[in-house]
Amino acid sequence: MTRKLRVRQAQTIVPFGVGAIVETQGEAFVAADISHWPVSSCPWVDSPRLAAGLGVTGFKALPSAKNDFFDSPDGVGAPCVRFPAWLFCGACRRMRRWGVADEQPGTAPLCPACPTPQALGPMRFVQICESGHMDDVDWWWWAHSRATTDCQRSTQRLSFLVDHSSIGLEALSVMCRACDSSRDLLQLLDRGRTRCTGHHPWQGRHEAAHCTEHARVVQRNAGNVYYAMTLSALDIPAPTAEAGAVDPQIASRIRSDDLWPGLCRADDPHRAAMLTTMICEGQPGVSPEDVAALLRQENGGTETERTHPRKDRPSTAADMSWEEWAALNTSTAVNDKHFTVRPVRFGPEGPPTESERLLRGRIERVVVADRLREVRALRGFCRVQPSPRRMVGVDTTGRRSWLPAVEVFGEGVFLAFSEDALSRWEEQPSVRERVRGLESDLNAAFQMDRLSGMVGDALLPRLPLLHTFAHLLIRQLSFESGYGTASLRERVYARPGEGGHQAGVLIYTAAGDADGTLGGLAHQGASARLTEILLRLLEAGAWCSADPLCAEHGARGFANLNRAACHACALLPETSCEAGNALLDRVLLVGAPGITGFFQPVIDAARRQAAGIARGEDPV
Ligand SMILES: [Zn+2]
Ligand SMILES: [Zn+2]
Ligand SMILES: [Zn+2]
Ligand SMILES: [Zn+2]
Ligand SMILES: [Zn+2]
Repeated sequence: MTRKLRVRQAQTIVPFGVGAIVETQGEAFVAADISHWPVSSCPWVDSPRLAAGLGVTGFKALPSAKNDFFDSPDGVGAPCVRFPAWLFCGACRRMRRWGVADEQPGTAPLCPACPTPQALGPMRFVQICESGHMDDVDWWWWAHSRATTDCQRSTQRLSFLVDHSSIGLEALSVMCRACDSSRDLLQLLDRGRTRCTGHHPWQGRHEAAHCTEHARVVQRNAGNVYYAMTLSALDIPAPTAEAGAVDPQIASRIRSDDLWPGLCRADDPHRAAMLTTMICEGQPGVSPEDVAALLRQENGGTETERTHPRKDRPSTAADMSWEEWAALNTSTAVNDKHFTVRPVRFGPEGPPTESERLLRGRIERVVVADRLREVRALRGFCRVQPSPRRMVGVDTTGRRSWLPAVEVFGEGVFLAFSEDALSRWEEQPSVRERVRGLESDLNAAFQMDRLSGMVGDALLPRLPLLHTFAHLLIRQLSFESGYGTASLRERVYARPGEGGHQAGVLIYTAAGDADGTLGGLAHQGASARLTEILLRLLEAGAWCSADPLCAEHGARGFANLNRAACHACALLPETSCEAGNALLDRVLLVGAPGITGFFQPVIDAARRQAAGIARGEDPV
């Protein structure tokens, strides 16, 4: 029987989505697949754009849990099953496999052997495989794996012993009380020992798949036990037929340009940008936006795409990102039910100081989002490695065509960087060299699949720059306005495009359940305060308490996908980051010997000013 645990609705996607281990009050469970959901009481979550992108019929959310009892049988909550099923008693050390029939809602398992009530705790180790299966370790086999005995498996009289005279896994052993066979856990974590059982904890044994993978034993709280595979979309106003279309006269002039056919075929974004500029120079009145829009229009899954299929067709995530980028990077206010944004003046009213002037030359536009709605869907999960090709769907029976999702209301601030300043900075050989190293690590990494939606067809130097900037901004906003870092999220827009690249970040609140607007974040963007916040952010970003180690260290982090970035300076809670805390490098912002940081002139000017003020000079 499944238990219903009281899990906050927003957490039913991340971190406690289908397949995740949920620990509560000394007990451990795993969230069951959506075939166990009380479908009739789960409301639909509307997001046609995301549904179309993912090719599903729609989304459902678990009802918000208001019950104070964490699992009354008829209450609402996330359906979970006990896992690991093998428990042990801390007093008498006996192990007990807690069967479905033993479950009593609202009651923690107690040791049947002890005279006084002793809670049973879950075993610390579980086995997982790369195809996403997870099962208990076969403890009976382990206890007998070094013994020659005709002991019967059905006895299952095991004990989990601790030898206080030794340390580590050697100190732990599993013993069979029927035949005295035992084995310590020293080699338990060695790989290639057992076959996977092809099982998910919520399945019956008869439902197990035939899996040819080796199982590996890990601690149940290890980082590789669960990777949620999510995709989210902002509600943006549906583009009207006219809005996206290029003026027919402009379109015909662009098409008539000799360079147009070359631009349509251009795979290299740098070449595409160059051709776009040349077309605009040759055709007065034609803007780069017109060229980009026409390119999208003509490549939008019609003739061109069928006759020139690109092997790396933009993913769903990338398509949706382009729509959001276009909606956010707006010069006019938009007042839609779920998308209320307005561009604001960036910077002080009076004459700017040198550092403010340099900062404004790098950040072109600030758009405050007073109201945003995001729908976040769980597509599935992975274990061992976050590879979408090995993803387990949220319905292991494969019958349902909807996905679990939550809607989140919030507010945010969007910053568009100056394309001019960015492309000039990106042309520097030292910048390209540094990012090339990162790109080859990215291509070699199994994370490539997961990050490709964010990166796009090629890794531009601006991506780690904008991504690190987003992290520092979240940390700074959290410091200045009292938000927990975990309640802020990022969306990084840094993909290369045929008619121009993306160049912006959105930081927004995503509190989950009901209305998550906390007030304040939108306000931060509205005033000259944002300039001050950004200058302090850069000052803070130039330094890490782990320096010089942090700044000078080479490739590191998950699959070597970080450079100068660590927990002390740039990393965020997993829920805030859309890239698993990969592709971060403070040096790209603040510079280092041999490489100019994008914001380095701003920081230098701010320091000169500070020194000047100390000498009694006027900063402006
Ligand atoms: Zn006991
Ligand atoms: Zn035995
Ligand atoms: Zn398996
Ligand atoms: Zn650091
Ligand atoms: Zn991030």
